[in-house]
Parts: sequence; C-alpha cells; structure tokens
Amino acid sequence: MKDTSSNQVQFCTKCVISELRPTSTIEAEHTRGEKKPTTAFTDGVCDACRWAVLKETEIDWDKREKELIDLCNKHRKDNGEYDVIVPASGGKDSMYVSHILKHKYNMNPLTVTWAPNIWTEAGQKNHLNLIRSGFNNVLISVNGKVHRKLTRLAFENIGHPFQPFIFGQRSVGPKLALQHNISLIFYGENVAEYGNNIMDNYDPIMKPELYTCYDVDNPETVLGGVPVKDLYEKHNLTRADLIPYRSPSMEDVASKNLEVHYMSYYRKWVPQENYYYAMKNTHFEPSETRTTGSYSKYSGLDDKLEWLHYYMMFIKYGMGRATADAAQEVRTDKITRDEAVKLVQLYDSEFPVQHLPDYLDYMDLDEKKFFEIIDSFRSEVLWEKDDNGDWSLLHQVDF
Ligand SMILES: [Zn+2]
Repeated sequence: MKDTSSNQVQFCTKCVISELRPTSTIEAEHTRGEKKPTTAFTDGVCDACRWAVLKETEIDWDKREKELIDLCNKHRKDNGEYDVIVPASGGKDSMYVSHILKHKYNMNPLTVTWAPNIWTEAGQKNHLNLIRSGFNNVLISVNGKVHRKLTRLAFENIGHPFQPFIFGQRSVGPKLALQHNISLIFYGENVAEYGNNIMDNYDPIMKPELYTCYDVDNPETVLGGVPVKDLYEKHNLTRADLIPYRSPSMEDVASKNLEVHYMSYYRKWVPQENYYYAMKNTHFEPSETRTTGSYSKYSGLDDKLEWLHYYMMFIKYGMGRATADAAQEVRTDKITRDEAVKLVQLYDSEFPVQHLPDYLDYMDLDEKKFFEIIDSFRSEVLWEKDDNGDWSLLHQVDF
C-alpha cells in the first residue's frame, strides 16, 4: 500500500500510471476513506508493464490455447443447449470473446447483458449489433428507482458512481449460469492486465470472492458505502429491492461446479486487436467522435456514467481516462511513452460536460451539490486550490 504522506508520487518509467493506481478489491467491503492496495512497482516499473513483457517473452500461447480447447471440450454440449455464458455489452471485447468461442472453438454461448445506467446511443446500437451478429442474448434491467438511488449513494459516499453497475456486471454471469444449468462462464480480461497483482495473470479462474461477495442478508455487507442494515433502515430500501444485486453464494458455486474463466489467460489480450477482430467479424461500430477525457473511439462506449467513473479516478488518484488508454497502448507498442504523456496532459482532466444534465437528472442532484461531492474526494496530496478557488493537480506525469 502506498504511503502518500511524503508527498512524492512516482510514475512508471515505461507507461504513464503512478503508484497511486488502486487495485480492484472486493466491492462489498468498500467504504469511504478505505485505503485500497495499489499497483506494485519494481525498479520504477509498474506490474502491468512487467506483465506486458512477460506476455511477449515467457508465456507459451500455443500451450495456453490447447488448455482452452481442452476446457471447451470438457464443457461442450452437442444437444443444442447452451454450454457457456459470456457477459457481453456489445463492446469490442465481448464481441471478440463471444465470436471466437462460437466460431473458432465451436461453443454455443448465451450472452448476457447487465444494462448500463444511462445507455448511450452508441451502446444501445452495439447491444443490438451483438444480437445481429448472431448471438442469443438476455438483457437484465434493474428497477430504475433503486438503481438511481444506489448510484447516488455510491457517488456521495465513496466517489464511485459506477459501483452498483459493477456489482451487477461481476455476478450476472455466474447467476445466469446457475439459472440455465451451465457451468462455464467466460469474462474478457483479468484486471491484472492493467496493474493488479502480477501473479493473478497466471490464474485462469476469477476469484470466487469477487462474484460471491454481496449477501443481502448480512447486515454488515456494504453497497454504495452503506451497510445493508442502513439501506433497509435509513434509506427505505427493501430486501426485494436488493435481490437483483445479490451475488450467488459460495455453496451454489461449489455445488454446481461453476468455473469462471478469463479469456486473457488463454489468448494474448491486446485491446486494439480485439477491436480489429470485432470490426472484421461482427457488426460492432466504434464511436464517430473522440471520447471526452481521452483520445480513443472504441472502448467503454455504452454507459454515460463511465465518463464520470473515469473522471472520479482522475479526481481521486490523479489519473483519468487518457491515462488508462495511453498506458495500455504504450504497453502494446501502439504509441511511445512521449506520445502517451502528451495525450495525458492534453485530455486527462477533461470533464464530460455534455453528460452533466444526465448525471444531475439521474442522481437527482443540483449542479452545486454535484460539484461539492466531486471536490470532497480531492486529496491534499494531489490537489491545491488557488485564491480564485481553482484546483490544480500537483503531480502529473512528465517526459
Ligand atoms: Zn507501467
């Protein structure tokens, strides 16, 4: 865990992330002020960059593909029933995973979509494009009143408006698998691709605690920074309201032999290559315009709240959407570090002003309160306010 008291922030010498980048943890334990573990650095290089080298030099990808074929052989059904669940939004990555499972490995996937909070036009279109590309799909849309309330609580309490969506997204695959009597689930990439513990990349299986963590009958489990008992007693939510967010239990997972795998373990994960694949083989459509806060046009296009999610990363950790995009493009040799630094300096701080009316409406906030919430997550280590009340970032990546 990074000690920020010295007021020095180290940036990776190969990419553009800093040592403040948090690693993903169990969301049902996430409360305000919690110190999250951060990406490890060795000799000035982050774990994600070290892993990018190992992907090219150490991993035997032919052997990994054989493991994938064995796994598919184990689970394939020849009677027309579904044999694998793929959580899929219609983005480039899920299009890629669904398509190769069906056409290269001869599986019969059921794709499942946990609906975005505020669907973009591009996202809605790509969801239909997924179906049009030849996939059956189940769309799970949760009660809008409840989802808005939880999103607002998550924004106010932990600066993480995307958290209720992530709860759903993480457990929707295993839950649907249980309902359809399917024991194999495929997600795209392990988050360790981007800086979680490097050793996680050697495990094909998603840790069960990530998708079994939310128990609506445990009063201490937390959602939106609020314990379940307070969601019931102080926020007028009912057990029925929270059931859609409930994770499958460890017992269910074990008794049905559920296996949740990452495709990034079996095939070298390069987001740009997934994009080219999706363009060539499916009806995926990129955005016509640059994503605010970054320079990309083809990732994370589905949900307007994703723009705010990245902006909050910028506020809390000093690294926004351009940092995330540029860091992984440096690692896959698509751009140089100097180009990445320029892109970060140019776009990272950009606020998605075009979505502001939607955010205020969705979370029932006025503009003043909205920005007060944002400012409450600026730390002294990263931010300084001048006499005019303007904020400046104290540590940004440089050449
Ligand atoms: Zn790095």
